[in-house]
Formats: sequence, structure tokens, C-alpha cells
Amino acid sequence: MNEPYVMLVDDEEEFVEALTKRLTHRDVQVIPCFGGEEALDKLDSHRNVDVVILDVKMPGLDGIEVLQEVKKRFPLVEVIMLTGHATVENAVEGMKQGAFDYLMKPCDLEELMEKVEAATAKRREQIDRIREAAVRNALSGMVE
Ligand SMILES: [Mg+2]
Repeated sequence: MNEPYVMLVDDEEEFVEALTKRLTHRDVQVIPCFGGEEALDKLDSHRNVDVVILDVKMPGLDGIEVLQEVKKRFPLVEVIMLTGHATVENAVEGMKQGAFDYLMKPCDLEELMEKVEAATAKRREQIDRIREAAVRNALSGMVE
């Protein structure tokens, strides 16, 4: 699998910078973001992002609001929610609204890598299936 392409969204700058470094060392391509608005803007211009790692608790648009917008505008992008103990219910709500999975902070890098890889594989398989269906559809038009 080619390296996962990830957007990391969290209002804690130090956390974003530290985790971006760690993920980059693991051959993950990372776009760091510090808020929901910024993330949605950047997703619009970076259409190959596989996975958004999304903090639940942020000022401005919170994680659930960002999740809803991501799923509405970019339905194939997978979302992994990051949560503290106080907001686990929000993360569970996120799962009901289409998040791929969630993780508790502080998150274990191995566990995060596993989820990122699984989410990336899911998105890419879906894209492959859509392409195959489009090709089949086009071919069936040719023989009719
Ligand atoms: Mg936060």
C-alpha cells in the first residue's frame, strides 16, 4: 500500500506538531490543521486525503460538526476521532454518524497506525470498486 495520506486536526498546536513528526517518521504523509474550518478548506484542495484524524473538542466547529461536514462533502474520506475521557460519548456519537473509529488521548502510536492503515485500505478499496463499476457500466453501454 502506498503511504497513507492523513489530515490531522486538533486545536492543541504542540500535540499536532509532535504527532505530525511521529507519523511522518512512519511514512505517513500528514497535513497538519489547527481547527475545523481550516480542515474543511484544505480538504477541498487536497482531494487525495485518505483519513482525517479529528479531535472531538475544539473551539469553533467541534469534532462532530466537522465529521458531519466531511461526510457530507467528501463521503469517501474516513474519519478517526480523538477524544479525552470527558468526551467519549461524543466519539461514540461520531461512530454512529459515520466515523471509522475513535481513540482515547493520549493515543498509542501503534494503535493509531493500525487504525490509519485500516481506514486507508477501506477508502482505497471503495474507490477501486467505484472505478470497476464505472468501467463495467461503460463497457455494457458499448455492447448494447
Ligand atoms: Mg481539543
